Amino acid sequence: MAELIPVLTETEIEQNIHVLARRISDDYRNKNLVLIGVLKGAFVFLSDLMRCLTIPVEIEFIRLSSYGISDTSSGRIDIHDNILLDLKDKDVLIVEDIVDTGLTLTTLAEHIKSLQPKSVKICALIDKLERRKTDCKVDYACHTVEGGFLVGYGLDYAEKYRNLPAIYHLKL
Ligand code: 5GP
Repeated sequence: MAELIPVLTETEIEQNIHVLARRISDDYRNKNLVLIGVLKGAFVFLSDLMRCLTIPVEIEFIRLSSYGISDTSSGRIDIHDNILLDLKDKDVLIVEDIVDTGLTLTTLAEHIKSLQPKSVKICALIDKLERRKTDCKVDYACHTVEGGFLVGYGLDYAEKYRNLPAIYHLKL
């Protein structure tokens, strides 16, 4: 039977998001902020984060190939949707659910840079350090963990557990 070990409670997530949103609001004041959410995993995080920001913001989503039902990165990332917003002279903050090897975000950041925004930074719900394979830097992290496979609050395993309001370590 799968075991769910608590990692971050609803209250802790809410508190961390408020702290993060304050930093982002300060850093992007008087800039042209666009949040680009990576589907599907980041939609819960993005929706809470954007409502805590105190500055104007535009929202876009992008869909990438995901892990499927395995718990390790395929290393191959396909970008399925394209960005419809004009990013020229905008300050882009990519909002990702979890950064593991960093392969996904390195590829995505390169793609977004090719659309000529003024700046590109990365915000992640979870910065997972243990298996990092690239020098991809998470500029804003809601929470940092060493390893483990996490679910809940948008994070899935085989499309399940996204609806859990807190974050758990899934042990199969
Ligand atoms: P990376 O390319 O950084 O190795 O992997 C990033 C993607 O892998 C994330 O967007 C997420 O879809 C998936 N992923 C990596 N670690 C986890 C995890 O602990 N839990 C879940 N649910 N997905 C993960």
